[in-house]
Amino acid sequence: MRIARFTTGEEPQYGVVTGDVDELGIPAEDARIVALAGDPLYVGVQLTDTETALADVRLLAPVLPRSKVVGIGRNYAKHAAEMGNDVPTEPLMFIKPNTSVVGPGDPVFYPRQSAEVHFEGELAVVIGRICRDVPRERVPDVVYGYTVGNDVTARDLQRSDVQFTRAKGFDSFCPLGPWIETELDTSDLAVTTHLNGDVKQDGRTKDMIFDVATLVAHVSAVMTLLPGDVILTGTPDGVGPMQVGDEVEVSVEGIGSLTNKVVSRE
Ligand code: MG
Repeated sequence: MRIARFTTGEEPQYGVVTGDVDELGIPAEDARIVALAGDPLYVGVQLTDTETALADVRLLAPVLPRSKVVGIGRNYAKHAAEMGNDVPTEPLMFIKPNTSVVGPGDPVFYPRQSAEVHFEGELAVVIGRICRDVPRERVPDVVYGYTVGNDVTARDLQRSDVQFTRAKGFDSFCPLGPWIETELDTSDLAVTTHLNGDVKQDGRTKDMIFDVATLVAHVSAVMTLLPGDVILTGTPDGVGPMQVGDEVEVSVEGIGSLTNKVVSRE
Protein backbone atom coordinates (compact mmCIF):
# COMPACT_ATOMS: atom_id res chain seq x y z
CA MET A 1 0.00 0.00 0.00
CA ARG A 2 1.22 3.48 -0.87
CA ILE A 3 0.38 6.11 1.75
CA ALA A 4 0.74 9.72 0.63
CA ARG A 5 0.08 13.10 2.15
CA PHE A 6 -1.36 15.65 -0.23
CA THR A 7 -3.28 18.84 -0.75
CA THR A 8 -5.72 20.05 -3.33
CA GLY A 9 -5.38 23.59 -2.02
CA GLU A 10 -7.19 22.89 1.23
CA GLU A 11 -5.87 21.39 4.47
CA PRO A 12 -3.32 18.61 3.93
CA GLN A 13 -4.71 15.10 4.20
CA TYR A 14 -3.51 11.55 3.85
CA GLY A 15 -4.47 9.17 1.09
CA VAL A 16 -3.83 5.79 -0.51
CA VAL A 17 -2.42 5.86 -4.04
CA THR A 18 -4.15 3.26 -6.21
CA GLY A 19 -3.47 1.92 -9.67
CA ASP A 20 -0.66 0.13 -11.41
CA VAL A 21 2.96 1.02 -10.86
CA ASP A 22 5.96 0.03 -12.94
CA GLU A 23 9.02 -1.74 -11.54
CA LEU A 24 10.48 1.59 -10.44
CA GLY A 25 7.37 2.43 -8.46
CA ILE A 26 6.18 5.04 -10.96
CA PRO A 27 2.36 5.08 -11.08
CA ALA A 28 0.36 4.86 -14.27
CA GLU A 29 -1.06 8.10 -15.62
CA ASP A 30 -4.55 7.15 -14.46
CA ALA A 31 -3.43 6.57 -10.83
CA ARG A 32 -5.78 7.91 -8.20
CA ILE A 33 -5.60 8.86 -4.56
CA VAL A 34 -8.30 7.86 -2.07
CA ALA A 35 -8.44 10.22 0.91
CA LEU A 36 -8.11 8.84 4.43
CA ALA A 37 -9.78 10.01 7.61
CA GLY A 38 -7.03 11.26 9.92
CA ASP A 39 -3.38 10.29 10.14
CA PRO A 40 -2.99 6.57 9.39
CA LEU A 41 0.01 6.35 11.72
CA TYR A 42 -2.37 7.00 14.61
CA VAL A 43 -5.83 5.88 13.52
CA GLY A 44 -5.02 3.22 10.93
CA VAL A 45 -6.11 3.27 7.32
CA GLN A 46 -9.69 4.57 7.24
CA LEU A 47 -10.72 5.03 3.62
CA THR A 48 -13.20 7.78 2.76
CA ASP A 49 -15.24 7.97 -0.44
CA THR A 50 -13.28 10.99 -1.69
CA GLU A 51 -11.11 10.04 -4.65
CA THR A 52 -9.00 12.31 -6.88
CA ALA A 53 -6.71 11.80 -9.85
CA LEU A 54 -3.14 11.65 -8.56
CA ALA A 55 -2.20 14.16 -11.26
CA ASP A 56 -4.61 16.71 -9.73
CA VAL A 57 -3.10 16.79 -6.23
CA ARG A 58 0.12 18.21 -4.85
CA LEU A 59 2.04 15.62 -2.88
CA LEU A 60 3.59 16.71 0.42
CA ALA A 61 6.20 15.02 2.60
CA PRO A 62 4.44 11.73 3.39
CA VAL A 63 5.41 11.90 7.05
CA LEU A 64 6.13 14.73 9.45
CA PRO A 65 8.65 13.27 11.91
CA ARG A 66 7.33 14.10 15.38
CA SER A 67 10.75 14.11 16.92
CA LYS A 68 13.65 13.28 14.62
CA VAL A 69 15.27 12.06 11.46
CA VAL A 70 18.18 9.78 12.27
CA GLY A 71 20.85 9.65 9.58
CA ILE A 72 23.34 6.85 9.09
CA GLY A 73 26.78 7.73 7.77
CA ARG A 74 29.12 5.60 5.65
CA ASN A 75 26.78 2.65 5.23
CA TYR A 76 28.04 1.79 1.73
CA ALA A 77 31.72 0.85 1.43
CA LYS A 78 32.26 2.65 -1.88
CA HIS A 79 30.78 5.86 -0.48
CA ALA A 80 32.96 5.65 2.64
CA ALA A 81 35.96 5.20 0.31
CA GLU A 82 35.08 8.16 -1.94
CA MET A 83 34.92 10.34 1.20
CA GLY A 84 38.31 9.01 2.31
CA ASN A 85 36.85 7.19 5.31
CA ASP A 86 37.12 3.67 6.64
CA VAL A 87 34.02 1.50 6.90
CA PRO A 88 32.55 1.87 10.40
CA THR A 89 32.46 -1.13 12.71
CA GLU A 90 29.00 -0.13 13.99
CA PRO A 91 26.35 2.22 12.56
CA LEU A 92 27.43 5.87 12.59
CA MET A 93 24.42 7.94 13.69
CA PHE A 94 23.55 11.60 13.41
CA ILE A 95 20.37 13.64 13.68
CA LYS A 96 18.68 15.88 11.16
CA PRO A 97 16.08 18.16 12.77
CA ASN A 98 12.48 17.53 11.75
CA THR A 99 12.41 21.12 10.46
CA SER A 100 14.72 20.01 7.62
CA VAL A 101 11.94 17.88 6.07
CA VAL A 102 10.28 19.00 2.85
CA GLY A 103 8.21 17.15 0.28
CA PRO A 104 8.28 16.25 -3.41
CA GLY A 105 8.66 19.29 -5.63
CA ASP A 106 9.59 21.58 -2.76
CA PRO A 107 12.68 23.74 -3.17
CA VAL A 108 15.98 22.82 -1.54
CA PHE A 109 17.37 26.14 -0.40
CA TYR A 110 21.09 26.65 -1.01
CA PRO A 111 22.37 28.24 2.20
CA ARG A 112 24.64 31.27 2.01
CA GLN A 113 27.00 29.64 4.58
CA SER A 114 28.04 26.91 2.14
CA ALA A 115 29.70 26.69 -1.28
CA GLU A 116 29.47 22.90 -1.61
CA VAL A 117 25.98 21.38 -1.21
CA HIS A 118 25.73 17.69 -2.10
CA PHE A 119 22.85 15.32 -2.83
CA GLU A 120 22.73 11.92 -1.08
CA GLY A 121 20.00 9.61 -2.38
CA GLU A 122 18.81 7.16 0.28
CA LEU A 123 16.22 4.61 1.30
CA ALA A 124 14.26 6.02 4.27
CA VAL A 125 12.59 3.93 6.97
CA VAL A 126 9.42 5.27 8.61
CA ILE A 127 8.82 4.09 12.17
CA GLY A 128 5.24 3.14 13.05
CA ARG A 129 5.29 2.51 16.79
CA ILE A 130 6.92 3.91 19.88
CA CYS A 131 9.79 1.56 20.59
CA ARG A 132 13.19 1.12 22.17
CA ASP A 133 15.71 -1.70 22.41
CA VAL A 134 14.09 -3.45 19.44
CA PRO A 135 15.77 -6.80 18.71
CA ARG A 136 16.58 -7.38 15.03
CA GLU A 137 13.88 -9.99 14.64
CA ARG A 138 11.17 -7.63 15.96
CA VAL A 139 12.09 -4.75 13.64
CA PRO A 140 9.30 -5.55 11.11
CA ASP A 141 6.80 -4.93 13.92
CA VAL A 142 7.93 -1.33 14.39
CA VAL A 143 8.49 -0.30 10.75
CA TYR A 144 5.50 1.42 9.15
CA GLY A 145 7.01 1.53 5.68
CA TYR A 146 9.63 3.04 3.44
CA THR A 147 10.04 6.20 1.44
CA VAL A 148 12.73 7.95 -0.56
CA GLY A 149 15.04 10.51 1.04
CA ASN A 150 17.70 12.98 0.00
CA ASP A 151 20.18 13.58 2.82
CA VAL A 152 21.27 16.99 1.52
CA THR A 153 24.64 17.90 3.00
CA ALA A 154 26.80 21.03 3.02
CA ARG A 155 30.01 19.09 2.50
CA ASP A 156 32.33 22.00 3.25
CA LEU A 157 30.62 22.61 6.60
CA GLN A 158 30.65 18.89 7.39
CA ARG A 159 34.43 18.94 6.97
CA SER A 160 35.01 22.16 8.89
CA ASP A 161 32.57 21.48 11.75
CA VAL A 162 33.37 17.77 12.30
CA GLN A 163 29.92 17.55 13.96
CA PHE A 164 27.24 17.03 11.29
CA THR A 165 24.46 19.16 12.79
CA ARG A 166 24.90 22.33 10.76
CA ALA A 167 25.98 20.60 7.54
CA LYS A 168 22.90 18.38 7.46
CA GLY A 169 20.42 20.44 9.44
CA PHE A 170 19.46 23.39 7.26
CA ASP A 171 15.79 23.91 6.50
CA SER A 172 14.85 21.91 3.36
CA PHE A 173 17.87 19.56 3.64
CA CYS A 174 15.68 16.46 4.05
CA PRO A 175 13.33 15.96 1.09
CA LEU A 176 11.11 12.90 1.65
CA GLY A 177 8.55 11.26 -0.65
CA PRO A 178 6.71 10.69 -2.87
CA TRP A 179 4.83 8.35 -0.51
CA ILE A 180 5.33 5.56 2.02
CA GLU A 181 5.33 2.03 0.62
CA THR A 182 4.15 -0.19 3.49
CA GLU A 183 5.07 -3.54 1.94
CA LEU A 184 8.58 -3.80 0.59
CA ASP A 185 11.50 -6.21 0.70
CA THR A 186 14.45 -3.84 1.11
CA SER A 187 17.20 -6.44 0.75
CA ASP A 188 18.19 -5.57 -2.84
CA LEU A 189 16.66 -2.39 -4.28
CA ALA A 190 18.17 0.05 -6.76
CA VAL A 191 18.91 3.49 -5.27
CA THR A 192 19.45 5.99 -8.08
CA THR A 193 20.10 9.73 -8.21
CA HIS A 194 19.81 11.86 -11.33
CA LEU A 195 21.03 15.46 -11.50
CA ASN A 196 19.46 17.38 -14.38
CA GLY A 197 18.70 14.02 -15.96
CA ASP A 198 22.23 12.58 -15.68
CA VAL A 199 22.78 9.46 -13.54
CA LYS A 200 25.02 10.31 -10.59
CA GLN A 201 24.33 7.51 -8.11
CA ASP A 202 23.40 3.96 -9.05
CA GLY A 203 23.63 1.76 -5.98
CA ARG A 204 21.80 -1.22 -4.52
CA THR A 205 20.64 -1.71 -0.95
CA LYS A 206 22.29 -5.15 -0.85
CA ASP A 207 25.57 -3.24 -0.58
CA MET A 208 24.61 -1.63 2.72
CA ILE A 209 27.11 -2.50 5.44
CA PHE A 210 24.29 -2.63 8.03
CA ASP A 211 20.83 -3.66 6.82
CA VAL A 212 17.53 -2.06 7.87
CA ALA A 213 16.94 -4.46 10.76
CA THR A 214 20.42 -3.86 12.15
CA LEU A 215 20.04 -0.09 11.84
CA VAL A 216 16.67 0.07 13.61
CA ALA A 217 17.96 -2.23 16.36
CA HIS A 218 21.07 -0.11 16.90
CA VAL A 219 19.31 3.26 16.80
CA SER A 220 16.53 2.08 19.12
CA ALA A 221 19.16 0.88 21.59
CA VAL A 222 20.28 4.51 21.89
CA MET A 223 17.06 6.52 21.67
CA THR A 224 13.35 5.85 21.86
CA LEU A 225 11.78 5.97 18.41
CA LEU A 226 8.36 7.54 17.95
CA PRO A 227 5.71 6.97 15.28
CA GLY A 228 6.72 9.07 12.28
CA ASP A 229 10.42 9.14 13.09
CA VAL A 230 12.57 8.48 10.04
CA ILE A 231 15.86 6.64 9.66
CA LEU A 232 17.92 7.45 6.55
CA THR A 233 19.91 4.35 5.71
CA GLY A 234 22.97 5.92 4.11
CA THR A 235 23.94 6.79 0.56
CA PRO A 236 25.71 4.82 -2.17
CA ASP A 237 28.79 6.22 -3.90
CA GLY A 238 28.54 8.96 -6.50
CA VAL A 239 27.58 11.88 -4.26
CA GLY A 240 28.35 15.28 -5.70
CA PRO A 241 27.56 18.97 -5.75
CA MET A 242 24.35 20.69 -6.75
CA GLN A 243 24.04 24.27 -7.95
CA VAL A 244 21.19 26.74 -7.80
CA GLY A 245 18.80 25.86 -10.61
CA ASP A 246 19.65 22.14 -10.62
CA GLU A 247 16.93 19.50 -10.46
CA VAL A 248 17.73 16.43 -8.36
CA GLU A 249 15.74 13.21 -8.56
CA VAL A 250 16.23 10.29 -6.16
CA SER A 251 14.55 6.98 -6.96
CA VAL A 252 14.27 3.80 -4.92
CA GLU A 253 13.07 0.73 -6.76
CA GLY A 254 9.61 -0.33 -5.62
CA ILE A 255 8.81 3.02 -4.02
CA GLY A 256 9.08 5.82 -6.56
CA SER A 257 10.91 9.04 -7.35
CA LEU A 258 11.48 12.22 -5.40
CA THR A 259 12.33 15.38 -7.35
CA ASN A 260 13.40 18.74 -5.96
CA LYS A 261 14.92 21.89 -7.38
CA VAL A 262 17.78 23.81 -5.80
CA VAL A 263 16.89 27.42 -5.12
CA SER A 264 18.93 30.31 -3.72
CA ARG A 265 18.11 31.18 -0.14
CA GLU A 266 18.56 34.93 -0.72
MG1 MG B 1 23.56 10.37 4.07
